[in-house]
Amino acid sequence: MKIDVLTLFPEMFTAVTGSSILGRAGENGILDIRLCNIRDYSNDKHNKADDYPFGGGAGMVMMADPVFGALHVVKAQGKRILYMSPRGRILSQEKIEALAAETELVILCGHYEGVDQRIIEYWDMEEVSIGDYILTGGELPAMVLIDAVARLLPDVLGSRTSIKEESIYSGLLEYPQYTKPREYEGLSVPEVLLNGNHKLIQLWKFEQSLLLTKQRRPDLFARFLENEDRLTIDEKKILRKIAEAT
Ligand code: SAH
Repeated sequence: MKIDVLTLFPEMFTAVTGSSILGRAGENGILDIRLCNIRDYSNDKHNKADDYPFGGGAGMVMMADPVFGALHVVKAQGKRILYMSPRGRILSQEKIEALAAETELVILCGHYEGVDQRIIEYWDMEEVSIGDYILTGGELPAMVLIDAVARLLPDVLGSRTSIKEESIYSGLLEYPQYTKPREYEGLSVPEVLLNGNHKLIQLWKFEQSLLLTKQRRPDLFARFLENEDRLTIDEKKILRKIAEAT
């Protein structure tokens, strides 16, 4: 997958895109992140890329011309272009899955007070938010999106099944996880995880997921209840027990 990122601060990305799982995805040619510095396309002799807003107001606005220049250079025409913005629809795992199915994406990161509205309109950009809070720039939001998309690409994570068991993906929050040692500060690992009975372990994980989801995310729990059909008989029993408990 190829992602062109347009930003005034490309250096912010390298720590994230060059390390760990994303770094490896880059080396293996699965993820090709191209950073484009918008300032390079400014026609101003000081490489100016922002100016005061018309009509007044606080802060600076990123100018159309340098961003248009950058978009032309990355051949953005006809591609799916996202603008990271607190006005956008909030990212969900479903949205991430849809984006992971694309072969190419272009992401524009705003900074200061945002970008000239004509950029968004002319290039038919989709505004995407990472949550109801305001950051100083779209760089961290873009990295959040790229990270979440990257781990869904084939061969990025070691095991595909781990994705399916994760919080949200399955419609439930993830069960508690434990690793060595068996005893730590007087706390033990639940016995069921140590007995090697895979069926029991699966059911225990399912039950724990249900309990956590019911307690913390009643919205997800209610939705999960509507899709009872795909469950095994044992799973249905557990689900009913937890749904009926007060
Ligand atoms: N004045 C703007 C906020 C500007 S914040 C407003 O009130 O809507 C500066 C830049 O940071 C934005 O252009 C956007 O690219 C990015 N940004 C800030 N918060 C964000 C969020 N929650 N999700 C996605 N991008 C965000």
